Parts: sequence; structure tokens; C-alpha cells
Amino acid sequence: MKQVRLRHHHLVCMQNFVGKGYDENFVANMQRVIEDLRRPDTIAHLEIGCDDICSCCPNRDGALCRDETSVIGKDRSVALFLGIPERTDVDASAVLDRVKERMLELDDVRSLCGECDWADLCNERIIARRNGK
Ligand code: SF4
Ligand code: SF4
Repeated sequence: MKQVRLRHHHLVCMQNFVGKGYDENFVANMQRVIEDLRRPDTIAHLEIGCDDICSCCPNRDGALCRDETSVIGKDRSVALFLGIPERTDVDASAVLDRVKERMLELDDVRSLCGECDWADLCNERIIARRNGK
């Protein structure tokens, strides 16, 4: 059984991922993590803190994100929205399906994540999915 470490707001980022990111290494790692999460029997270990996506991010500084205060806010907001504890283990596929469904309720992803450079792109993805694309 594989375990993937995830901070909560990355559950949302993954839904909107279209192969873009901070650099090639980040994008390749993000793809790997998403593939791992979709494998049967994968457990997502959710915790507020740097995770398996942060591990290949140029914005990571040691054990923290350079913008740690802001991303902790995003994690807590997503944890509340999804009704998921701040530290827990969950079946990865099940939680991804749940997030996918809940995302369709959002009119603007900023209501969940606050300000983010990628928010417009994420909103486009949500609208496209709502329209069945
Ligand atoms: S707006 Fe930013 S934090 Fe929110 S899902 Fe998109 S990329 Fe992630
Ligand atoms: S280090 Fe920061 S910017 Fe990079 S993936 Fe982690 S939370 Fe996001």
C-alpha cells in the first residue's frame, strides 16, 4: 500500500492541473503524484505542512513553503470546505472523487483559496468541467 503526503489545498490544485507549473521538475513530480494517488490502495496522508508536491517545488525553503502563512490558510479553508480533519489518512481515489464533485459548486476558486496566480486558470477549468468539457 502506497502513502502520499498531501497538504489539503493541493487536493484542489490537482483537479485543475493542466500540465503547467513553476518548472519542469515541478510539473513532472505533480504528474507522478497524481498517478500515484489514482492507483488502487493508495492512502493520502493529509496534513498541513510541506508534502510530496512541495518536495519538488522551487518555492520550498527547507521544511517550509516560502509563503507558508498564506498556504496554511488555503489548507485550513479547504479542510473546512471538504469536512476533512487537519491531520488524517484517507483513501486517495475516494477523496479525489469527492473533491472533483465539490469543486463544481464554486463560482470563483478564490472563495476557497484566496488570491493565487493560477486562480483564473483554475476558474476556467471549473467552468469547463461544469459544461462537461
Ligand atoms: S487557485 Fe491556486 S491554490 Fe487554488 S486550486 Fe488553483 S492553483 Fe491551487
Ligand atoms: S512549496 Fe509552496 S508553492 Fe510550492 S507546492 Fe508547496 S505550498 Fe505550493
